[in-house]
Amino acid sequence: MKGKNLVQSVIDASHYVFDRKLVSGKAGNVSARFKDSEMDIVAITPTGKSLYDLSQNDVVLVDLNGNILSKGHPSSELFLHLNIYQARPDIKGIVHTHSPYATGFSFSDKKIKRLEGFGKIENPYLEEVPYYPPGSSQLAENTAKMLKNEDAVILKNHGVVAVSFDVDEAAALAEFVEEIAKTQFVSHLLKKS
Ligand SMILES: [Zn+2]
Repeated sequence: MKGKNLVQSVIDASHYVFDRKLVSGKAGNVSARFKDSEMDIVAITPTGKSLYDLSQNDVVLVDLNGNILSKGHPSSELFLHLNIYQARPDIKGIVHTHSPYATGFSFSDKKIKRLEGFGKIENPYLEEVPYYPPGSSQLAENTAKMLKNEDAVILKNHGVVAVSFDVDEAAALAEFVEEIAKTQFVSHLLKKS
């Protein structure tokens, strides 16, 4: 990420997803990765704080093994983020939301269709990671495995994870997932009328 402070980019993306109502209260988490003297460092949002009012001191720095390199307590989904970074050396940003439409689908038996704009469409639906408790190692491992071939997945009965080459793009992708879920929901309602 050229010329932009990485911690600030995590804060900016956090504010973006909060402003767009993709997260509320203290839900959701955001991270970005950078290399510092050949070591991968991840900047991640803290636990127990709204993404709405983060400051530079709130963002926690960790290495890929989860060793904390700064003050603060990282998100309870730290290992979800770290497992994904390990599985996908190409990505530099991760956003996890509980955006209402996409999460609503995750609690139903309906899958979210990939609409136009989602790249090549081999599988017509977004992939869904089976339910595992939030913060669990099973959730981290299974989500990372599914994201090897995807940039956005639905977590059953939970929410959305989007990844990209930077954290702004990951936030935009999380927003796009919510948009297509909303569009599908509206079109479903209209068909019934
Ligand atoms: Zn969550």
